[in-house]
Amino acid sequence: MNTVAAVSQNPPHDRDDAAHGGPDLPQERRVVTEIPGPRSRELLARKQAAVPQGVGTILPVFVTRAGGGVVVDADGNSLIDFGSGIAVTSVGNAAPRVVERVRRQVADFTHTCFMVTPYESYVAVCEALNRITPGDHDKRTFLVNSGAEAVENAVKVARHATGRQAVVVFDHAYHGRTLLTMTLTAKNLPYKHRFGPFAPEVYRMPMAYPFRWPTGPENCAEEAAAQAIDMIVKQVGAENVAAVLFEPIQGEGGFVVPARGFLPRIAEFCRDNGIVLIADEVQTGFARTGHLFACEDEGIVPDIVTTAKGIAGGLPLAAVTGRAELMDRVHPGGLGGTYGGNPLACEAALAVLETIEADGLVERARRIGEVMLPRLRALAERHPVIGDVRGRGAMTAIELVRPGTKEPDAATTAEVVRRCHAEGLLVLTAGTYGNVLRFLPPLVMPDHLLDEGLSILEGAFSAL
Ligand code: PMP
Repeated sequence: MNTVAAVSQNPPHDRDDAAHGGPDLPQERRVVTEIPGPRSRELLARKQAAVPQGVGTILPVFVTRAGGGVVVDADGNSLIDFGSGIAVTSVGNAAPRVVERVRRQVADFTHTCFMVTPYESYVAVCEALNRITPGDHDKRTFLVNSGAEAVENAVKVARHATGRQAVVVFDHAYHGRTLLTMTLTAKNLPYKHRFGPFAPEVYRMPMAYPFRWPTGPENCAEEAAAQAIDMIVKQVGAENVAAVLFEPIQGEGGFVVPARGFLPRIAEFCRDNGIVLIADEVQTGFARTGHLFACEDEGIVPDIVTTAKGIAGGLPLAAVTGRAELMDRVHPGGLGGTYGGNPLACEAALAVLETIEADGLVERARRIGEVMLPRLRALAERHPVIGDVRGRGAMTAIELVRPGTKEPDAATTAEVVRRCHAEGLLVLTAGTYGNVLRFLPPLVMPDHLLDEGLSILEGAFSAL
């Protein structure tokens, strides 16, 4: 029947309204059915009939509520969340300040389009980002909807301001799925395969990936920087490069922490050659790594920073923050979009920033790293299939290889994930070779769940 009335077979009033998401949700793991359970399997069948398979699902449990450190599914299972919806719900799902601010805003107005008639919250988010992103220079910020859109816009600004075209990116990079950001992304499957032709003027350089550097981690920073700079100069010409774009810790590429010294050397090269340095902090931003921004770790001050994900507690928002003299170069009307800086998302972002400050979440992320990294290292001692343990703060990972080699072991990685999911621990993979388990708990996750999650992970390796 061609009507909009029957939109859901499970309308909201049929749901158990006694419990909402948020931190009041019982902070416990509870596995009451197979995972996924019967209700989720039913919904999965509907998904398969309605949504193309190209939109993948890591764990097909259908969520009804989430908050603190748990995700509750349609069968009543309560899973420990080591994913935060890919580094988004750092303040937790349905975080109280977010709920309150968004609730008030949704009753006042939901949209005007900032380019038509503006509102204060957009400006307040921009002021805050100008203040808290690295560097005390004069900055400007504008808001968009997604990480990919932020990266595209950063490149537009860099090209416009420099009058140059080339963009330099690194091996293992991930920057999004739009035509330009897919081109900027390194990995073919699943992101680029048969989606070409790609955008022109994108050049890829080696990444300082310590675990996989051919001459060993101790030489990695210096050699990778020298190779990258040599290739830029020889193959592109520094004077043709608008921007060098990097992730301070690579996300989808496998939580690759660039060897110390690599990024400062690249930053210096950019400064010396009038190249705009763009830090993509979409995954690393907003306290995740134990700093507000991951660039702070080595004192990198980028010319432009892109942010998204953790910025607004799950509402779609992203930002481009850059030096005023670059950003203000673009002509009036050259930047924007219908929904960019939607008022609900702006209120959520203000609530997230208040929460990070009030609840000490930078410190909390650092503490999560202090709990997780030693346990992961001890696990690696016992299981030689774990070749590398890395990350900072609440952004940590293990890379799985055939013992005694660096040959990626994606099959064992998938098996560990399967066991974790069956036990009610939601974990994600990453990595160019699909052999990295990454851990991104909400920063508000209580200690007992963090501990229990790690025990499940340890159990999954013991049972291999
Ligand atoms: N840059 C980085 C570093 C990311 O991790 C991501 C998302 N995984 C993106 C850009 C793209 O963000 P979005 O999915 O919001 O477009």
